[in-house]
Parts: sequence; structure tokens; C-alpha cells
Amino acid sequence: MSVLGDLLAGLSGGSIEVVDLTAPLSEDTPILQLPPPFANTQHFSRTELSRYDDRGPSWYWNDFTTGEHVGTHFDAPVHWVTGRDGDDVSTVAVGKLIAPAVVLDFADSAVADPDFLLEVDHVREWEASHGPLPDGGWLLYRTGWDARSEDSDRFLNANETGPHTPGISVECARWLAEESPVMGVGVETVGTDAGAAHSFEPAFPCHSFLLGANKYGLTQLQNLARLPATGALLIAAPLPIVGGSGSPSRVLALVER
Ligand code: MN
Repeated sequence: MSVLGDLLAGLSGGSIEVVDLTAPLSEDTPILQLPPPFANTQHFSRTELSRYDDRGPSWYWNDFTTGEHVGTHFDAPVHWVTGRDGDDVSTVAVGKLIAPAVVLDFADSAVADPDFLLEVDHVREWEASHGPLPDGGWLLYRTGWDARSEDSDRFLNANETGPHTPGISVECARWLAEESPVMGVGVETVGTDAGAAHSFEPAFPCHSFLLGANKYGLTQLQNLARLPATGALLIAAPLPIVGGSGSPSRVLALVER
């Protein structure tokens, strides 16, 4: 049988499961909130054009408005000034949108400390038991934050000192960008950087280093708990917005059962 035939047989026979890592996209989807004087993205919104009525008797459809960085979405290199000469979301090679993924589960640490940061040593320890990070693949960083995604306040977790959500240390972000073989990092939080990363040096190191290395980000993922530590195949499907800095994306994982 052909490779694609085997894949289809696995999907229909149940030996390959499709796990949806995408957050439902609606007016309630939490969005990043930057302090003044920075511009903010807007919530997803829609306008009904017709619903089997005088405006269109047999059809229902909407217009919608969304930011490029709303909900589960893909960060392209041009999103950051360090990656301004890199790919935009429409020029990312399509072959890269299907890639291996590993899951590093630090949900217990993030529950204990919302400002928890992934360090190089954490990744090295993970590699000691699971093998090397995948060449050209994704590092998916599980923090349990998807459990908060229904409640914007809990998801953003901000107080008078700013947002407190888990992320990646400056040195680990630099290492992932410049020394590790991964193509990108996927997270469950509103952005790839920690809530407190505005105060890091450099600020927002994940964005700065990863996108500056022509690597990618995926955010607001769900259901990472349903993936194995290694062996999943990730399909990320951002819209090819010409010149776009990112796009809401459907993100699926294929998992062997
Ligand atoms: Mn983004």
C-alpha cells in the first residue's frame, strides 16, 4: 500500500487519532492587552450578511474582523523587528506546515508559579529521557494554561504589576533560536513570551530571538495533554495573508494510538 494509503487507513481505522489543538474562535476569545502607548489588536467580531432571509433567502454568511494575532495563531518572522527580512505568513514554505512535534509538560510548575520560566536545563533534562528535540519540528510547551482559556481574566492573569503567565527564559529563548534544531515553539498562553517578558533584557526574548532566526511561533494551543511527549505530527494552517505578520490558524496533531 502507498504511504498515503497507509495514512488514510490509519485515520479511518482509528490507529491514528486527529487531535484539535485549536481554541474555538469567537467574540469571547481572549486577546493580548498591551499598556499605553502601544496599539492593541481587537477582538474577533462578525457582521451577519444574511440568514435565510430577505438579504439572502437561501444562504447564511458573515463578514468577520480579526487581528492577525487573535486566538490560536501563527507568528511569522516579520512580526518582530529582528525578523523583518524573514518570511511573512504567506511565504512560509508549505512543507514546513507539516512537521514533527514534541511536548514538554511543565503544567505542575506553572500551576505552582504563574511566572514559571522554561530554562535550557529543563530542556536538557527532558532530552535525557526522551531524546533530542526534533530537527525542523516544534517544541510544544505545556503549562496547563489552556484550562483558563474560557475566562479572559484568568487567562491573562494580570494585576497591578502586569500579566503573570508562564514563558521561556531569555537564555533558553536564545538557545532555542540559535542552537536547537527546532523550527518553532508552540504555547498555550496568549503569546509565546512570558507575561512578565516586557521587563526582560531583551524584552520579549522568544519573539526577538526565535523570529529573528526565521523561526515561528504558535500560541493559544489547547489539548496538548492529549499528545505524547514525542511522535506527534503537527499540521499548522495559517491563512496566506500577503505580507501578513501572522494569522489565526487551525492546528491539528496526528497521533498514533
Ligand atoms: Mn502573535
